[in-house]
Amino acid sequence: MLVEKSKENLARCQCMECPSYSMGCKIKNFPENMIKLMGDLDNVEHYEKMFCAFGKSHCIAEDKGCLCETCPVYNEYDLHREEYCMKDGGKISRGCWTDVEKN
Ligand code: SF4
Ligand code: SF4
Repeated sequence: MLVEKSKENLARCQCMECPSYSMGCKIKNFPENMIKLMGDLDNVEHYEKMFCAFGKSHCIAEDKGCLCETCPVYNEYDLHREEYCMKDGGKISRGCWTDVEKN
């Protein structure tokens, strides 16, 4: 099950509180994130938050810790990785990996 690109999930994402999400990246991404929030997130290819749904960050580069395991989205979608902002493949949950391994 892919993480749904919903505003509800976005609100529950912990990335903005995370030490890895630098102040520089927050400031840089704020205008574009706000514009994208005005539309339907389902049609948004990339967003600089909730990286488990939108893919890795185009800005965050240094691992200073990760809050994903404390996130309700992480538990609801049975995710099993961390640092989704820095790694590809964050869109795939544990259930999907199991399916891939079976095939
Ligand atoms: S994916 Fe993890 S490490 Fe990256 S910003 Fe979000 S909580 Fe922090
Ligand atoms: S699991 Fe990590 S990247 Fe995904 S919504 Fe939660 S804090 Fe954000």
